[in-house]
Amino acid sequence: MILRLILGDQLNEKHSWFNEVRGDVLYVMMETRSETDYVAHHIQKVAAFFAAMRHFAALLQAKGHRVRYFHLDDADNTQSFTGNSMFLAGQTPFQRIECQQPDEYRLDAEFKSLAEHCQIPVQIVDSEHFLTPRYAVGKLFAGRKMFLMETFYRHVRQKYGLLMDGGKPEGGTWNFDGENRKKLPARSHLPDSCEPENDVAHITEMLGRQGVETIGGIDPKKLPHPVTRTQALAVLEHFTVHLLPNFGSYQDAMTTRHKFLYHSRLSFALNVKLLHPLEVVNAAIERWRTHPEHISLPQVEGFVRQIIGWREYMRGMYWHAMPAFATKNYLNHTAPLPGFYWNGDTKMNCVRHAVRQSLDDAYAHHIQRLMVTGNFALLAGVNPDELDAWYLGIYIDAIEWVEITNTRGMSQFADGGLIGTKPYVSSANYIDKMSDYCATCAYDKQKRHGENACPFNSLYWHFYERHRDKLARNPRIGMAYRMLDSMEPAEKQATMAQAAKYLADLDKL
Ligand code: FAD
Ligand code: SF4
Repeated sequence: MILRLILGDQLNEKHSWFNEVRGDVLYVMMETRSETDYVAHHIQKVAAFFAAMRHFAALLQAKGHRVRYFHLDDADNTQSFTGNSMFLAGQTPFQRIECQQPDEYRLDAEFKSLAEHCQIPVQIVDSEHFLTPRYAVGKLFAGRKMFLMETFYRHVRQKYGLLMDGGKPEGGTWNFDGENRKKLPARSHLPDSCEPENDVAHITEMLGRQGVETIGGIDPKKLPHPVTRTQALAVLEHFTVHLLPNFGSYQDAMTTRHKFLYHSRLSFALNVKLLHPLEVVNAAIERWRTHPEHISLPQVEGFVRQIIGWREYMRGMYWHAMPAFATKNYLNHTAPLPGFYWNGDTKMNCVRHAVRQSLDDAYAHHIQRLMVTGNFALLAGVNPDELDAWYLGIYIDAIEWVEITNTRGMSQFADGGLIGTKPYVSSANYIDKMSDYCATCAYDKQKRHGENACPFNSLYWHFYERHRDKLARNPRIGMAYRMLDSMEPAEKQATMAQAAKYLADLDKL
């Protein structure tokens, strides 16, 4: 007998493991407290993982595979991968244990330790999910100081011939960023969402009985995230038909009128491997090729870039930089995370919308994460450990390899510029340019100081001033320092005083 472990984010029914039904293979899946408790997760996230896992186990069984599934409340569940594997190994003389390569460092270490301490050989195979191997980024940039996503993205596009015209990029350019990223027009028609309605009441009740602590809200009769491959394919189809035509144009836009805009909401399905990244980008490219009258090249390029560029690159950076990456704090930020990250109780309209939406839906789109909650935390000097725990818990798609690289790296500059070449900070100016938040905010977007001055404004200048020694020599930030240095002394002093006042009591904002 062979014991094959399947993790909650390895729900890939196309994996070669399942090509044949073998009587000598026992597939083992488990819900464990080691997974529910390592951070305070959103209730929708835990429910979606368990629902997707249970569907996957049922699917394998229906196909004739042998499956042992540990429910969280099973009496013989030892609540850890190692414990349950050893327990099963004590019952059956397994020839070996097989695992798919885990995506998290924590689990990779656990499997390595299992291999060391278990009498039975442990064999680790590829998860067959990504387009590039674990260490591809590290190898591509070996000996170089800069790990540019753009270089990696072009490499993957060429390797897979995606949006390529012979050896050249389709449309003659690799990047259509200049044509994308518009503000949403005031009266624009906004799209319908494609939301499955999964009844997960049996799971939420069990979580309650077991005392699992979660955050956020849920309608247990209508979990709107895809938990089967059929549902995930429906979300993908909806995206390519209805949202892709405007994806690139409005990918950075934010509005109080619509939570999801033209975003695909495919990250959960991709991260638990219900969908393969290549099939997702191929579906988008196919739709563009067959409907060029509705979809322009910049829209589809913008989407392909997110998946085979950013997503694949972040995974490579994770394996290149872990485990040291997890404790990086280049700017020595130590402020506690303000309480309003847990309840949305702040007068800052942009932050309130982003946080409340995150609590309600376990979702916020990229620019809300980067330029609202991430931006504020960076300006306020929040400890990246606390921020990581927040991002890792609150989002439906949060798995460490893609959460920590985005949070510590891209958003918080805690890696000192390995992932981003400069900190993603902005004053109210950017938020106002890309959203309608400021128009109805209690704060004044134009004021740096004085009554109701927008906190982003003074904190922005305070951030640059207090990190002058680490940032002033960065050529990409020269302009900000030139502006800071040309500020009238009285104006600068009032701005810094305003920031200091806000920083002294962040919870009041
Ligand atoms: P879309 O806007 O429709 O984009 C399509 C797909 O591209 C996404 O589903 C995702 O798979 C991929 N993608 C886009 N941007 C990125 C990126 N920067 N890194 C990796 N993949 C990307 N993404 C996660 O999957 N899990 C996380 O835990 C996570 N944490 C984040 C934390 C911060 C601070 C920031 C700034 C970003 C984070 N992201 C994370 C990246 C991005 O915000 C989400 O992937 C995206 O918002 C998911 O929504 P969507 O599926 O509608 O994406
Ligand atoms: Fe956010 Fe400031 Fe705009 Fe208010 S005025 S929404 S706090 S950027």
